[in-house]
Amino acid sequence: MASLPPNFQQLKQEQLKPFLHDQIIVPDELQANVLITTVDKIYNWSRRSSMWPLLFGLACCAIEMIATAASRYDLARFGMEVMRPSPRQSDLMIVSGTVTKKMAPAIVRIYNQMAEPRYVLSMGACATGGGPFKEGYNVVSGIDKYIPVDVYVPGCPPMPEALIYGLLKMHEKVDRQSVTSVPWYRKDSSAFVPVPRLGPDIFDPRQVELIKDTTLKATTGASATAANGPAADAEGRARGPKTLSDKAKARMEEAKKRWRAKKGVPA
Ligand code: SF4
Repeated sequence: MASLPPNFQQLKQEQLKPFLHDQIIVPDELQANVLITTVDKIYNWSRRSSMWPLLFGLACCAIEMIATAASRYDLARFGMEVMRPSPRQSDLMIVSGTVTKKMAPAIVRIYNQMAEPRYVLSMGACATGGGPFKEGYNVVSGIDKYIPVDVYVPGCPPMPEALIYGLLKMHEKVDRQSVTSVPWYRKDSSAFVPVPRLGPDIFDPRQVELIKDTTLKATTGASATAANGPAADAEGRARGPKTLSDKAKARMEEAKKRWRAKKGVPA
């Protein structure tokens, strides 16, 4: 098995560290009168005990999420019964279901509208990696390509028990945060996530240079980053875009004629 990246190991070790408030020892004779804790414990306890979800039900997984909120599983136990499709006052976005290319910009826009602290839970195989529709023409291969995800819940669909386990993991994550280091009290920490653009295909504006480079390479045979050397790059640019074949030109003219005839536009 390939070794795990070092920052992953470090994150895992941090998750295993005992809490500071569990290490403070109160003498036996004071146990009945003294209560010691940390500011972090109170701060995190209050946040995780009233984490309001922003439900983003997109497909079948949403039914399991709805079942989790209903009487049998009762999310009110965790102070999470206020489920609204609104970024106002919400702390946790639950992306449950298949994320289509048409829907991804809306998800990112709403994520940008959420106030800090904000968390994201990806529910199900589809939201996490495309699921059974991975590589489908209209499906995004995981919402984490666009927004940061804190907890992944696997399954197709994950049952309510799995979602609740994911929520408990989210609580653990919140418990590990410290008021001295949380990003939302730092200047410029809450970055705006570029909203993906939906055209013939969806693309992430952060990758525009890469897309430009790849497209140029495909049309001119050279790379803007001159992967094959500056000489090959200049040669490719000089050649310009490929010209269309006569057959392709004829087909385009045919299509134009048909369109004009349909719309009644004179030639
Ligand atoms: S993971 Fe399975 S159950 Fe969930 S939305 Fe995708 S296909 Fe449906």
